[in-house]
Amino acid sequence: MADYAAFYQRSLQDPDAFWREEAARIDWQKSPTRICDASRPPFVRWFPDGTTNLCHNAVDRHLPERADQPALIWVSSETGEEKTYTYAELDREVQRMAAIFFDLGVGLGDRVLIYLPMIPEAAFAMLACARIGAIHCVVFGGFASGSLASRIDDARPTLVVSADAGSRGGKVIPYKPLLDGALAQAQHKPHAVLLVDRGLAPAARVAGRDHDYTSLRERHAQAEVLCAWVPATHPGYVLYTSGTTGKPKGVQRDTGGYAVALAASMAHVFAGKPGDTFFCASDIGWVVGHSYILYGPLLAGMATVMYEGLPIQPDAGVWWRLVERHRVNVMFTSPTAIRILKRHDLAHLKASDLSSLRTLFLAGEPLDEPTAAWVAESLGVPVTDNYWQTETGWPILTLARGVQPDQPAKLGSPGVPLYGYRVGLFDDVTGEPLTEPGRKGVLGIEGPLPPGCLQTLWGNDARFVSTYWQSIPGRQVYSTFDWATRDADGYYTILGRTDDVLNVAGHRLGSREIEEAITGHPGVAEAAVVGVADADKGQVAVAFVVPRAAGPLEDATQGEALTAEILARVAADLGPVARPARVVLVPVLPKTRSGKLLRRAIQAVCEGRDPGDLSTMEDAAALQHIRP
Ligand code: AMP
Repeated sequence: MADYAAFYQRSLQDPDAFWREEAARIDWQKSPTRICDASRPPFVRWFPDGTTNLCHNAVDRHLPERADQPALIWVSSETGEEKTYTYAELDREVQRMAAIFFDLGVGLGDRVLIYLPMIPEAAFAMLACARIGAIHCVVFGGFASGSLASRIDDARPTLVVSADAGSRGGKVIPYKPLLDGALAQAQHKPHAVLLVDRGLAPAARVAGRDHDYTSLRERHAQAEVLCAWVPATHPGYVLYTSGTTGKPKGVQRDTGGYAVALAASMAHVFAGKPGDTFFCASDIGWVVGHSYILYGPLLAGMATVMYEGLPIQPDAGVWWRLVERHRVNVMFTSPTAIRILKRHDLAHLKASDLSSLRTLFLAGEPLDEPTAAWVAESLGVPVTDNYWQTETGWPILTLARGVQPDQPAKLGSPGVPLYGYRVGLFDDVTGEPLTEPGRKGVLGIEGPLPPGCLQTLWGNDARFVSTYWQSIPGRQVYSTFDWATRDADGYYTILGRTDDVLNVAGHRLGSREIEEAITGHPGVAEAAVVGVADADKGQVAVAFVVPRAAGPLEDATQGEALTAEILARVAADLGPVARPARVVLVPVLPKTRSGKLLRRAIQAVCEGRDPGDLSTMEDAAALQHIRP
């Protein structure tokens, strides 16, 4: 049996040889002769003289052997629909979508913003972009007008693809009014909007701008659109994520490096094989959805399950019935989903034949031991935690099940660094590498980052360098902005973010973004949003708000009215996903003498911990108003 430690060492000692071998997992129009160009750190160009296409590798390449094999299995427990697309059918739909994009003026390098629920058209649209060398920017359907508008202005898309509505827990969520609101708010005006009409909600079309997908699809029934061969370094997509400022960061990824990294991870990390069925229960609006609902499984010639709905709707057996029906081999979800399922009768799980399932992978937030133990015991399969982020595109820390299946897991730890990642812990003040076991430091990665990681931030190289590469004092090391420790065996434990990023149910949200939405209310003077530990969701957002007038503080009715307006405002602006679990009205917020909000101290008090050193605090009494 292969030894993971040796595999890992080889990836660091001879990265060119290592990644040259991995590059053979995909098709190239022109094979790369150069593997890694790191001549301009911290920027890195993987396979710089190779040309390829992500859609060719995800779809066309499989047609000779797997035209009739399921490629995309779409299941909606919201509408009760289910549809399987073979590779041949997927290919047809993607070519039609690509032809529509051409019709609507999308060309190489143009951005297409995709604001869609979990429907097959989302996959068609992403793959169609890849096919013609357009850059997709998928915006999570749970975001609302304000979030959408800021992404439209940053990405400057030629086309927006959207739908009449999504559905959550049986409740229709109209998308079109949110999109229209965003387009009215945004400075940039896309040429066209392509609308998928699911028949869920009325969606008036703006003449000259909005186009109906169904009729255009008919028109292009037989369309043939060739894959555009692009340099490996051609941007494949931009995916926005939250940071410390209110302005989201457009994580930009390449084409060739990403394809190689994902193809390698399907084999080495997920131990998957062509023909397997992979079920990743996430959303295409998040990085997990990009990498492991869409591209990873398809690159590997698997069938991928795309699921619209909740894990407990119509009941907590819905996912397990799906595993049985489609003989799912590998499953991937978040700890939050498992915590929710854990509260339901185990009979739901036991009622299905889960014998096809080999492994469950969990990621996106810390995995607590009781949840890990419960699900491993209930399913009777190994459960593997994996730690990564939007920026890296594939796991940083985990156990490479495809390399060494018996590598021991340790409860509470996602595992060890994956091949290609030079991971270390660094002192946040001195920047010194921390080598002794047990020391807490910032998890950093020495450059060059392996293939598949972000190339830069869209349109903002300077922010890419200053945010990620200049945060660890005195050295140019990539910061993950996570605290961690490492034990004597090299296993890491993640302790939480070093910045003001919240992680609610595995969804990443920025404190500043939510605070800005709240302070947009005319009755609000200031706000502080912190993530507070929660038994189900890992964290929830709690907002401490200073009203402009004393009324809402003194009068309960006025206070309730303001609170309701604040919650509604955040939902309308950012989306329900960002709505705080609680709003607490306070007369003053704890700050340092230089006026910096003491979010860490607020968070500590909310979690019943010691708020730490308060010597820099302007008014020590301010903390008295903070209540868990
Ligand atoms: P995102 O970019 O939305 O995927 O969020 C990435 C962040 O989620 C990381 O920086 C961590 O703070 C957290 N995270 C992701 N996976 C894990 C994990 N397996 N264990 C602990 N934290 C995680």
